[in-house]
Amino acid sequence: MDYEQFAGEKCHELMRIQEEFKEKFGIDHYEHWTYDAELELLRLYNDDNDQLYLKYTPVGTFSLKSETWMWSWFNEHSIEPSKDNVLAVKDFGIEKDYSKLIDGTFPADEYDCWEFAAIAFDILDGMGLYRVATEKLHIYMLIIGIVSENSSDVIKFNQKKVECKSHGLSRAAFVCQHLDLEHPKGFEEAFETYKGMDLDEGDDFAAWCNECEKVRIQHDGWNEKSEEFAKIKLICEECYFELKKFNSTV
Ligand SMILES: [Zn+2]
Ligand SMILES: [Zn+2]
Repeated sequence: MDYEQFAGEKCHELMRIQEEFKEKFGIDHYEHWTYDAELELLRLYNDDNDQLYLKYTPVGTFSLKSETWMWSWFNEHSIEPSKDNVLAVKDFGIEKDYSKLIDGTFPADEYDCWEFAAIAFDILDGMGLYRVATEKLHIYMLIIGIVSENSSDVIKFNQKKVECKSHGLSRAAFVCQHLDLEHPKGFEEAFETYKGMDLDEGDDFAAWCNECEKVRIQHDGWNEKSEEFAKIKLICEECYFELKKFNSTV
């Protein structure tokens, strides 16, 4: 069987299953989405009382700008632990000599993308597919389970998240009012940090500039006076590490 015929068949199969999946879980009824790549958790919601958590495996992404497809196993920005499961699709491609399943990235159109998603669905087993659509990117997610709102993954998902204009939903971090990306001002931290690290209960990313450090020492630590000078503000984890990189130079 040639690739076109095979892909067409799989797409047809998926369409039928996908309709059932969407209807059963009311997928189209949710207006908004957010997801956490580390936890591989997708949240569909209208509000806090009307939501659904789904476990996913990333299949791949379609860039609307370059009109290219990229398999998740090839994507170095994809941090989902299960992306390597998608290599089973590549193995199958090698066996059948289907180059579109073997190459990591190449020009494609939206129709191709649904074919890739359908083939991944067939090989990897799942409940259905969900496509997260942003302005620049379509992310194809293979849905592999429904997650209870009381599960530890969902609790982690909702812990300490802030909505950042640049970075979306991310963990919270705290910095003094002086730190910016214009002039390096030093970067004193409550404890040594790195991006993505696990935080103990009650620990937060927190940093302040050299001036704040002087004031803090003058006033024997954090108190009303030194805090007034620092005016600590809430930012996202991604922003925090951008500031750290820039400000650590002095
Ligand atoms: Zn400061
Ligand atoms: Zn941010």
